[in-house]
Amino acid sequence: MSTEHHQFVIVGAGMAADAAAHGIRDQGAEGSIAIIGEEPTMPFPRPALSKKLWTDPDFTVENTALHTVRETDAQLHLETRVVGVDTDAHEVRTEDGRTVRYDKLLVTTGGHPRTITDLPPGERVLYYRSLTDYQRLRGMVEAADRPHVAVVGGGYIGTEIAAALVQQGCRVTLLHPDEVLGGPMFPAPLARDFQRRFTDAGVDVRGGATVTGGAESADGVRLELERGGSLEADLAVVGLGIEPATSFLDGVVDLAEDGGVLVDERLRTSAPDVYAAGDVATYPDPVLGRTRVEHVDNATTMGRTAGRILAGSDEVHDHTPMFYSDVFDLGYQAVGTLDSSLETFVDEVEGGAVAYYLSSTEVVGVLLWNLDEGVDEATELLAKHTRPADAADLAGTITP
Ligand SMILES: Cc1cc2nc3c(=O)[nH]c(=O)nc-3n(C[C@H](O)[C@H](O)[C@H](O)COP(=O)(O)OP(=O)(O)OC[C@H]3O[C@@H](n4cnc5c(N)ncnc54)[C@H](O)[C@@H]3O)c2cc1C
Repeated sequence: MSTEHHQFVIVGAGMAADAAAHGIRDQGAEGSIAIIGEEPTMPFPRPALSKKLWTDPDFTVENTALHTVRETDAQLHLETRVVGVDTDAHEVRTEDGRTVRYDKLLVTTGGHPRTITDLPPGERVLYYRSLTDYQRLRGMVEAADRPHVAVVGGGYIGTEIAAALVQQGCRVTLLHPDEVLGGPMFPAPLARDFQRRFTDAGVDVRGGATVTGGAESADGVRLELERGGSLEADLAVVGLGIEPATSFLDGVVDLAEDGGVLVDERLRTSAPDVYAAGDVATYPDPVLGRTRVEHVDNATTMGRTAGRILAGSDEVHDHTPMFYSDVFDLGYQAVGTLDSSLETFVDEVEGGAVAYYLSSTEVVGVLLWNLDEGVDEATELLAKHTRPADAADLAGTITP
């Protein structure tokens, strides 16, 4: 790869990269595309890793995988980490000392799992994010008889993987720091409903449990808890969110306070011909304001737009993303901020509920609980940047 030159170079081989390669071709550009990714696997839809690959026999790794190369003719350089960018020379440098020249560079490096300093990753400790993690976990779960898995983290990855594993017959202990599972996100009645689904399924849900460290041995793992005591399990699966992967961009582009790569509405960074999209990008959302979103709708839509822009489109990125999660037979979708410390109003509707989150001046988030419809209406409501004096007057605003 040392003398390679590509019209389009994409760093990071995730979902945003796949979408961007498609966006380049959508725009009619025929120039060569190189996608450089540190993982050993092709771009893969990560949401399946904690859901359908476990719970729906119709979903296999083979039929879920993306076909980036076949569909876009991009060249994939896997197991290759980019460690530097020279914007004057228009070159990226890889860990193994090679350089690749670009006309346009797109950064889609997402993030690396947030880790607990005193709990190193290992054979029995997985910081869960990749297809490789799924394959390892699946192998371990199938090799053991009803293993005891400690899941650390009450966010969407922790809760989804806990639900998936208990349905595989594992003994699951879910450790999270809050009083009620989902409590920081959901209004109290919905959080109680959420937690009940886990306890009913046999998950041992332990609130107020912050893991501070731990160690693995040949036959198990011990997790130390902040409030004292420890938990022994066969495996630990940790899902605590990500830190944006930007170390190779130090001094190259401007970074946001949240650690993301700052881009404008055309997804341009502060460096010429360098763009960013997906989980790593902090962008100006027309409804939500400047933000960074770690969700798939954002990664694929922004990635696709970035591809078209790289290939010459003069459009702006103006998509406000939704996000979703599925556990057991519950699905929820949302737009905007889900922070239960805000004022909230829960509107019970046929089959589910709509929860509205309000600041003193406007509706800032909408949660659609067990409802398939309503995302567009929710986005339109947020775009109005207003609120009724009495939150209860929102009743019936969204009726999916
Ligand atoms: C288990 C799981 C379940 C999820 N479920 C949902 C869901 O239900 N709903 C939802 O909305 N979202 C979900 N998400 C989030 C969604 O998958 C992400 O938002 C999306 O994958 C982000 O795509 P990306 O391409 O921006 O980044 P990533 O998918 O993180 O891809 C970035 C890639 O770049 C690589 N990389 C980083 N640094 C370098 C470097 N220096 N050189 C080369 N390569 C590098 C990384 O290793 C990675 O492979 C889930 C995520 C996970 C992990």
